[in-house]
Amino acid sequence: MLVLFKKNALPEDKEKFASFLKEHCFSPIGTEAYVSCGAGISEATLQEFTDFAAFGRIIDDSFYFSSRTFQEKNTLITIEKKKNRVIFGGESIPFIGGPCSLESEEMALKAAENLRSCGVKLMRAMLFKPRTSPHSFQGLGLEGLSILKRLSQETSLILVSEPRDSEELEILAEYADIIQIGTRNMSNFQLLKAAASIGKPIILKRGMSSTLEEFLAAADYLLLWGQRNVILCERGIRTFNSYVRFTPDIAAIPELKELSHLPVIFDPSHASGKTSLVPSLALAGIAAGADGIMAEIHEAPDKALSDGKQSLSFEELPKLLERAALVAKAVSRSIE
Ligand code: PEP
Ligand code: MN
Repeated sequence: MLVLFKKNALPEDKEKFASFLKEHCFSPIGTEAYVSCGAGISEATLQEFTDFAAFGRIIDDSFYFSSRTFQEKNTLITIEKKKNRVIFGGESIPFIGGPCSLESEEMALKAAENLRSCGVKLMRAMLFKPRTSPHSFQGLGLEGLSILKRLSQETSLILVSEPRDSEELEILAEYADIIQIGTRNMSNFQLLKAAASIGKPIILKRGMSSTLEEFLAAADYLLLWGQRNVILCERGIRTFNSYVRFTPDIAAIPELKELSHLPVIFDPSHASGKTSLVPSLALAGIAAGADGIMAEIHEAPDKALSDGKQSLSFEELPKLLERAALVAKAVSRSIE
């Protein structure tokens, strides 16, 4: 249970109510809310809340700060780097491209050049890969940090990178412009809290078996722990379908936009696991209202160290961008 202070409550009234709440096993989250430790609260105690001038309201839903009830208007997230500027949540639809994982300096610089030549402003720059099997390529790790540093200093691409734990988060915070929390970490609540306090915008990917309520509750962790710039990413869910790696949940895009004020982007690569499906799905995502597309692009997908089967080649990227622009226009938006 979440108890909110009344808007513009006086500090001394807040203090009085806060000490009452603490006595009843509530602890503060941010400056405007207290959360119950989960112990039962009697009807009589609830009645007593109303005696306090600072009492606002009780929220019993699993998510609130990411909801349209809390904020009706879309959250706009502006990210700027050198001459690059993108806005998530507005009319334009930013495109994030790049390999599943950085593999070498040469490969990373070529990938960056490919994106730049296609007018893409955001790049996947992953070093630490959360892989299902320990036998799969785990990313360059710390050895690749100099590559991330070079990309950050020598290009104006906005870099997205993912930590698997709070140690890697600290390392990435220096060079990444957006921190990604992957599907396997959506419910790692300690990592969510740590990521929120780093101060960078966050792409939060939906857990592969998570409901939308659980997804938005995870977003609430980020918002409550101080990060307002949260971008939700639909990336496919686990179903009985075996023709795809995951099942793209296209309906989740408009549904999330109904439920939440946060921008919603779509990842057709991990959603399908299949290069041939990626363009159609990207277009479907845009038509369904996605506020961004993230797709894996590799110079030679058949030689990729990870996820080559779902990566587009350098040549396929401009073709997709051209078609994406047409669909975006049909829904009164544009690709950036
Ligand atoms: C990724 O985007 O690099 C990734 C691993 O995706 P997901 O967490 O959706 O599997
Ligand atoms: Mn991948």
